Amino acid sequence: MHHSISFAQKFLGITIALSSASFALASSIQDRADRFLALANAGYQALYRVNAEAQWLAVTDVKPAHDAASEATGKAYAAFNGNPAIINEARDLLTHRAELNELTVRELNQLLLNAAEGPMTNPDLVGQRVAAETKQASILNSFEFKLNGKSITTNEIDNKLEKSVDLAERKAVWEASKQSGPALKPNLIKLRDLRNGVATEMKYPNYFALEVASYGMTADEMVKMHDDFLKQLRPLYLQLHTWTKYRLAEKYHQPVPKKIPAHWINNRWSQEWTGLVEAANIDDRFKDRTGDWIIKTAEQFYTGLGFKPLPASFWTKSDLYPVPAGDPRKKNTHASCWHVDLQDDVRSLQSIEPNSQWFFTAHHELGHGHYFIAYTRPEVPPLLRLGANPGFHEGIGELISLASSQVPYLQARGVLPPDFKADATAFLLDDALARSIPFMFFASGTMTHWEYDVYAKNLPPDQWNARWWKYVGDFQGVEPPSTRDEQFCDAATKTHINDTPCYYYSYAIATVLKFQLHDYIAREILHQPPQACNYADNKEVGAFLQNILEKGGTEDWRKVLKDATGEDLSTRAMSDYFKPLQAWLEAQNKGRQVGWE
Ligand SMILES: [Zn+2]
Repeated sequence: MHHSISFAQKFLGITIALSSASFALASSIQDRADRFLALANAGYQALYRVNAEAQWLAVTDVKPAHDAASEATGKAYAAFNGNPAIINEARDLLTHRAELNELTVRELNQLLLNAAEGPMTNPDLVGQRVAAETKQASILNSFEFKLNGKSITTNEIDNKLEKSVDLAERKAVWEASKQSGPALKPNLIKLRDLRNGVATEMKYPNYFALEVASYGMTADEMVKMHDDFLKQLRPLYLQLHTWTKYRLAEKYHQPVPKKIPAHWINNRWSQEWTGLVEAANIDDRFKDRTGDWIIKTAEQFYTGLGFKPLPASFWTKSDLYPVPAGDPRKKNTHASCWHVDLQDDVRSLQSIEPNSQWFFTAHHELGHGHYFIAYTRPEVPPLLRLGANPGFHEGIGELISLASSQVPYLQARGVLPPDFKADATAFLLDDALARSIPFMFFASGTMTHWEYDVYAKNLPPDQWNARWWKYVGDFQGVEPPSTRDEQFCDAATKTHINDTPCYYYSYAIATVLKFQLHDYIAREILHQPPQACNYADNKEVGAFLQNILEKGGTEDWRKVLKDATGEDLSTRAMSDYFKPLQAWLEAQNKGRQVGWE
């Protein structure tokens, strides 16, 4: 770690400058804070960029040299954020909170949250963590899945699970998709302890609590909020689950099970239930489209609403398509969007193929990109160039993804013909299954509770897989096709468990938020039904969104939401959206065994 401190000093000379700042007897506390934050913002932005550049290279071209470089910049970034001079000055200034303006207090709090990721009051611990994080990313990014002794990519796994009707093949493919677990588990055990270690170093009880702090909530409050979401959605979920298991049993010519076998579902974690509603399958409509058309159409969505086009560098620096066959380069296949310099350098990592899933994903990812650009303005200091809360960033992406799946929008973009007769129930059912309700039971249920147990309750590693499948069973009503004992670590096959720990509840919050914002836009701005509306080229919708996005992290997220919609966060809008479905499902399921108890 000595290395990385001098690395940071060389870059910025910031360590020395900061300690002298804290000696200054400023004319006022606000002046002192302003001078301190000018330095802190500049240093933060500079190291953020250096680190993001190296991380970007490491995920778009996976090789040991790039891992080593990203480890070095990760250490420098952590050394700056966790600098004891910064921690002490931020803490000291916050004891004079009453003399500081609200924006300043938010910046100081954010500095402490950033510091908590790698407090240099314990440099050995931070160094070990960065090394372990880098190692985990490398194992994850370069893992080779094998089916019958032959390499198979995750895209190929997903394609097979989407198309195959041969249950023996589906089982083999599903099991292959779980091969990475045992490779990832040993270092994940180490990471759990290191992550919890850095959290306690900053006086948080555990890493889960630290991550939740950016919402201004405790770990228990967060878990309870998700339990409340699920309580309200459970009657609808039970109906969807019943309808699905009967449907799949018929498809595979099997007796109707209590829980749904995991390999019957297209998604590797049963988090989205796609391909069940034929009438809503529009993949054929993308057959003759190109990846380029998909991403340009997604960008047109935003410019049509009145957003500035993404900077030209987005198109030259992004990595948007699968690696061509025969090219030895390896890249991470998980879609993401990056604000590389916290200024105008916005990039996206995708592997776009011409199908509906990538069409929605492209719209989602550009939501992050336009969010970045919207809050990149002088009024928002670099430290607060982030979403109102972490779920907001995802929520905006998800909102646009939902908007991009609306039939009238698809017609406006020529994906569906103007005379297309939508089966409204089919589309609503597909929305619920493929993008909303089962996802809530995976995200708020399985993921949130498992990570809470692992981080906040220190669940012993020899119980990890059993606990995972207990939650998959209890929350999702899904069971594995064969025994999954502790030689496996099926949770670790999920990217976020490795590289974005204690964060997944944010996707559930995003899902709740998207329906709330969508409900407002459809009813109050477009005056169209939320289940069939079209945002395209509506400048009023653009202004509504711009007003939320441009705030970044400068205001409390509860206030931002209330000011925009007049409501607190709740599943009210989501329940309303799917209300027409509940009665239809109950009629379909009449006389059937509902639930799996
Ligand atoms: Zn996203």
